[in-house]
Amino acid sequence: MTLENIKGLGPKNLQLINKLGIYTIDDLINFYPFRYDVIERSNVDELNDGDKIIIDGIIESVPSIFYFGKRRDKMSFKLNTGENIFRVDIYNRGFLKSKLKIGTNITVIGKIDKKHNLIIVSDISFGAILKTKIEPVYHTTYGIGITTIKKYINSIIDKYHTKSLLPDYLIDKYKLMDKDEAIKIVHNPTKLNELNKALNRLRYEELFLFMCKMNYLKNNIQYKEGLKRVVDKSKVYELINSLEFKLTDDQLKAVEDIYNDLTLPYRMNRLLQGDVGSGKTIVSFISLYINYLGGYQGALMAPTEVLAIQHYNNIKKLFKDYNINIELLIGKTTKREKNRIYKELEEGNVDIIIGTHALFTDEVNYKNLGLVITDEQHRFGVNQRANLKNKGITPDVLYMSATPIPRTYALTLYGDMEISNIKTLPNGKKDIITTIKSEKDIKDVLTSMYNELKEGHQVYVIAPLVEESDKVDFNNVYELEEKMNKAFGKLYNIGVLHGKMKSDEKDEIMTKFQNNEIQILISTTVVEVGVDVKNATMIVIFDAYMFGLSSLHQLRGRVGRNDLQSYCILISNHETERLNILTKTNDGFKISEEDFKLRGSGDLFGVKQSGDMVFNIADLKRDYNLLLKAKEDSIEFLSSSKVNDNLELIDTIKKSFALD
Ligand code: ADP
Ligand code: MG
Repeated sequence: MTLENIKGLGPKNLQLINKLGIYTIDDLINFYPFRYDVIERSNVDELNDGDKIIIDGIIESVPSIFYFGKRRDKMSFKLNTGENIFRVDIYNRGFLKSKLKIGTNITVIGKIDKKHNLIIVSDISFGAILKTKIEPVYHTTYGIGITTIKKYINSIIDKYHTKSLLPDYLIDKYKLMDKDEAIKIVHNPTKLNELNKALNRLRYEELFLFMCKMNYLKNNIQYKEGLKRVVDKSKVYELINSLEFKLTDDQLKAVEDIYNDLTLPYRMNRLLQGDVGSGKTIVSFISLYINYLGGYQGALMAPTEVLAIQHYNNIKKLFKDYNINIELLIGKTTKREKNRIYKELEEGNVDIIIGTHALFTDEVNYKNLGLVITDEQHRFGVNQRANLKNKGITPDVLYMSATPIPRTYALTLYGDMEISNIKTLPNGKKDIITTIKSEKDIKDVLTSMYNELKEGHQVYVIAPLVEESDKVDFNNVYELEEKMNKAFGKLYNIGVLHGKMKSDEKDEIMTKFQNNEIQILISTTVVEVGVDVKNATMIVIFDAYMFGLSSLHQLRGRVGRNDLQSYCILISNHETERLNILTKTNDGFKISEEDFKLRGSGDLFGVKQSGDMVFNIADLKRDYNLLLKAKEDSIEFLSSSKVNDNLELIDTIKKSFALD
């Protein structure tokens, strides 16, 4: 069964729930409330307007119904609660009318409006008298509300079976409830103690699985013997001193860390963290040089072709006077060219290879791969750590990421890695001035763009869609091209870039933008990570509310790449409050924490790629004690013979890292 089978779930809502990270029925069932509102019975006198209320009463008037639109209605009647007579309004529940006879005892749940002696009711209960009402609250996004999401979940929840991966002895040990039941309760709780048990059941399983993965990973990858290189450090510093800029202290420290790792005989497993624009790329190039001097091949993998091509061009430039053989390998490299590169890699003629995922497909064999660097690691997820190992090669590994992870999480997620941090941006970098505009202020935006363009600077314009869609109403690249052409076509060159283009087209456009032959680049988020055009000083992002804060911060990082004042304009008619943090800070760390608070950990790592690291229902801070328990249990489990009785669990763990 797929999401499309759900009654009433059309293409528009499908796109919206995709935005919430829901792509499959599994995702939907596992889309848990992030909070519960508990409404207690309380004294009407103590309530303020707008407060939630549960109250019993007797129906005193025949309900009247107004219909509006096709399927909407509003019903009103009088409710005598003993002390007051309230008017009750309830929406879209017209079908209940026949049950609401005068004299019937009911309990209503809703919001009170004392001034008008009114209760706007969300739920009516007959018979059993409710003490408290627990309302699950789900994350939503503009265009889709909680009621709709709940409706989708409840339309499948009874038919759905979720496999539990917990070993039986642990279920017995903690007397955990059945998983299907727990899921039902979590979505439709009636009693608090039951809800807590259900939450605990699901959180424990999630944490246990996570700790198993972490421990498995540690046992299998860490402490491996590595390559030992002899590298003349003065050669490394010759390169550093020949650069057109001086490395920052943090960059130097990172280079030293990496030099030590590569020359000592254990395997490097290092994360290089630094905010957008902190200068990680040059550190990676120097690392590749150290590895080269040590006599090994090196690979740098980027998440997008655009970025791979940029790295390739830059590293070629850096080493143009060196006798180092550098190649580019991406999905769309011609077959003939690929075959040539495969051969040269195998024969050891290529020293450094730059590329995308294409670097680690089955056809590629290295002669003596010593170092693998992944740029924008958070885009790949942890899985691919293991892919490198599939071929029986165990190179040193450096991960680079601009997504700062709050400390508690970093420890757990990257617990088995060393970390180098680049905390300061290169000298002379100014904060990017960020403003929020609504689409009707487009004239102001064009004026601001013009002010930059006439200084000889360049501008990015970002849209969420490539082309017009009949399903959703967001700006698209081609429509914006038309708009920009009208405004600036006579004065400036305008280029379009998106993921559906062929890679040589992308390359051509990026090169033109890099060389200032194009002044306005209209693009999708293919430029989100890594792209570096120093003369670009403004980025205008349409439908900004469509993006997560961390993505916007990354996009904004495309400007401010030299010492010119740069600007970011977020165009949004919605959710401007959420976007506000970007106007207040340029600190990626603060922004990601905010993102984290708003949307949970999922968004930090991109939506899907890194499913393994995302907690759905557990929270490392809140559930810390449960985590410790899970940790202990997982260590005991993995080192016991119980492993043999739980092969499916072990299989899941292995698969999530592609280890075997
Ligand atoms: P990121 O960490 O986001 O990958 P980059 O490596 O792309 O950042 O660097 C951002 C920009 O800063 C690039 O244009 C790069 O050439 C420049 N840069 C890097 N290090 C320094 C430095 N120490 N001094 C001045 N500019 C630098
Ligand atoms: Mg980068």
